[in-house]
Amino acid sequence: MDHHFKVLHKDTETAARAAVLTTNRGLVHTPVFMPVATQGTVKAVTERDLVEIGTECMLSNTYHLYLRPGLPTFEKFGGLNNFMKHQGPILTDSGGFQVYSLSRLRKITDSGVHFASHIDGSPHFFTPEKVIDYQASIGSSIWTCLDVCVKNPASRADALDALKKTKKWAERAKIHFDEKTRHIPRAERPQLFGIIQGSIYTDLRAEAAKHMAELGVDGFAVGGLSVGESKAQMMESLGAVMDNLPKDKPVYFMGLGTPEDIWNSVELGVDMFDCVLPTRNARNGQALTSAGKLYIKNAPFKNDESPLDAECDCICCRNYSKAYLSHLFKAGEILASQLISIHNLRFLINQTKIMRLAIAGGTFKQAKKSFMDAYL
Ligand SMILES: [Zn+2]
Repeated sequence: MDHHFKVLHKDTETAARAAVLTTNRGLVHTPVFMPVATQGTVKAVTERDLVEIGTECMLSNTYHLYLRPGLPTFEKFGGLNNFMKHQGPILTDSGGFQVYSLSRLRKITDSGVHFASHIDGSPHFFTPEKVIDYQASIGSSIWTCLDVCVKNPASRADALDALKKTKKWAERAKIHFDEKTRHIPRAERPQLFGIIQGSIYTDLRAEAAKHMAELGVDGFAVGGLSVGESKAQMMESLGAVMDNLPKDKPVYFMGLGTPEDIWNSVELGVDMFDCVLPTRNARNGQALTSAGKLYIKNAPFKNDESPLDAECDCICCRNYSKAYLSHLFKAGEILASQLISIHNLRFLINQTKIMRLAIAGGTFKQAKKSFMDAYL
C-alpha cells in the first residue's frame, strides 16, 4: 500500500478534501496553490519572499529548462533546486503544452514530437523516454508524462487521435520511469503524474482517467482545460475525469488560477493548482483581493492610505498603501510588479489555507459562499 498521499479530512457535503502529499523534498498540504517558475524563477519574486508567503510546492517547465539554460547546467549544479537555491519540491510540466503552443515546425509521430526551438529555431525531438531523462537531470520531485495537446475547439477525431498517443506515451513514460527510479530509496524517489487529455468530450475524458488510473502513476494531472472553452464545458469535463479517478491519489488541475475556479474545482475533489496569471496580471497592475479584483492604476487610489487587502498579511499589505502602489505603477517602477506579485500569490495561498481549514471544520460550502459573495 502506497501512503505518499494521505487524506486527512473529507467534506461531508462535497468531494472537497484536505490531504498531505509526501515528496522527496518535504510535505505539501492540499489543496495547494503552486507559484510558477517557468524559467527557474517566479517572475519578480525572490526565494525569501516565496518562503515567507508559504510556498509549499512550485512549478517549472521541462521544455523551457531543456532549451535554456540546457540540461548540462543542471547536471553541473546538481539539479534545479540547487541552481535556483530553492529547498521545497518542484513539479515539472512535461513540455507537451509548450511544444504545442510555442514551438514552430511541430511534427508528431508515434515515437515522439519533432519541433523547432522558439528561441533560435534549432531542431529537437522529444520522446516520452527522453522527457523522463530530462526531468531526472532537472531533479524535480514530481515528474509528468509527455502528452499531446490539441487546439480548442478540437474536433472529436483530433481529440481522439491525441488521446490515443497520450495514452501510449504515458505507458512508455511509466516503464522508463520505473526502470530509472527503481534503485532510488523510497523516501528519495521522485513521483510520476500522468496527464489526462480528451478536450471537452466527456466520454474521452472518462476513458483517459480510467486508463491513467490503471497505469498506476503516483498522481493525475488534468491538462487541456481552461484553454478557452466555456466554464460549463470545463466543469463538465473535469467532472467526467473526477468520477473515474481513485480517491487515494492527488489530482492536479494544470494552469487553473482564478480564485473562483479553484474553489469550484476543490469542491469536486481537485488538490493542486498552478497558474501564471497571478504574477502576469500583477505586472499589469491587477491585484486579487477578498473584495474582488482591483486595478491599481485607477484614479481613485491617488490618496488612498489603505492596503490592497486589509485581510492580507503579505509584505505589501503590511507596509504599503494603495496610493503608493498606484504611484509606483504609474511611474513604471519595477517594485510595483514585485509587491503586487507577492500579494497575489499570498492571496491564492491564503485561499487554499482557508479551504483546508473549512474542510477540516466541516464548513466548506459556507466558506465558499462567503468567499464568492464578497469576491464576485
Ligand atoms: Zn497582500
